[in-house]
Amino acid sequence: MILRSFGLDGKVAIVSGCNTGLGQGMAVALAQAGADIIGVNYGSADDTPELIEKAGRRFHNITADLSQPCVISDVVAEARRTFGRIDILVNNAGIIRREDAIEFSESDWDDVLNINLKSVFLMSQAVARVYNEQESGGKIINIASMLSYQGGIRVPSYTASKSAVMGLTRALANEWASSNINVNAIAPGYMATNNTAALRADDVREKAIRERIPANRWGTPEDVGGSAVFLASPAADYINGFTLAVDGGWLAR
Ligand code: NAD
Repeated sequence: MILRSFGLDGKVAIVSGCNTGLGQGMAVALAQAGADIIGVNYGSADDTPELIEKAGRRFHNITADLSQPCVISDVVAEARRTFGRIDILVNNAGIIRREDAIEFSESDWDDVLNINLKSVFLMSQAVARVYNEQESGGKIINIASMLSYQGGIRVPSYTASKSAVMGLTRALANEWASSNINVNAIAPGYMATNNTAALRADDVREKAIRERIPANRWGTPEDVGGSAVFLASPAADYINGFTLAVDGGWLAR
């Protein structure tokens, strides 16, 4: 009986940046749990539509650059029109720029903050308005990071953005919990995706990071699927403003 409250049958989820990496892993997991998926991607969704259809659910791709605030209202309107409603938003799209803080450029600051933080707020606000119009409540899952807790090295705008995502998650949760909107976050540890390709290509950094992970391996897109399904499901209806680490024990160390 309890397992039924983890199901997402009939739900519609928006997942930004789901053509690859963690976004793809979460989109597939949400579909396997029963949700239809709206992807928001720079371009094509690559092999994600095939994977969603294999899970027996529908997929629709919206092409957009989410770092441009002017696109957000159209994206959310199209998402709502496509399958008739929205129940879940996963704010996954994000980028990282690496450079010594002393050399860090204003554009590397703005580019990262625009997609990793500003678009998270604007997408959340637009989708929460839909939840209110539907009188349905709904779920919002933000993607934080180990750098929501720690400083990192050579990634000042990324750390600033992901630390702010954890704070924003709490702030929105406080305001919207009484409207049955659950705002939570997942903080992935060190995961093998494009985001960490540069780190993994550097043998010294790769080894240093892996040896510090108690699980002794980098995470995978599949590793975040279960947490996404849980936070998107009725089983998490009384969880508000929490950031769940999926990190192989990194923070416990
Ligand atoms: P990734 O680079 O494989 O995926 C990022 C996704 O975001 C891609 O689909 C990309 O197209 C999309 N995206 C970026 N900018 C966009 C824009 N302006 N408009 C639309 N889409 C855009 O990396 P990933 O590791 O899968 O990253 C997913 C999320 O997880 C990011 O928010 C990232 O910061 C976060 N994260 C990753 C790790 C890790 O170790 N890989 C750890 C913690 C958090």
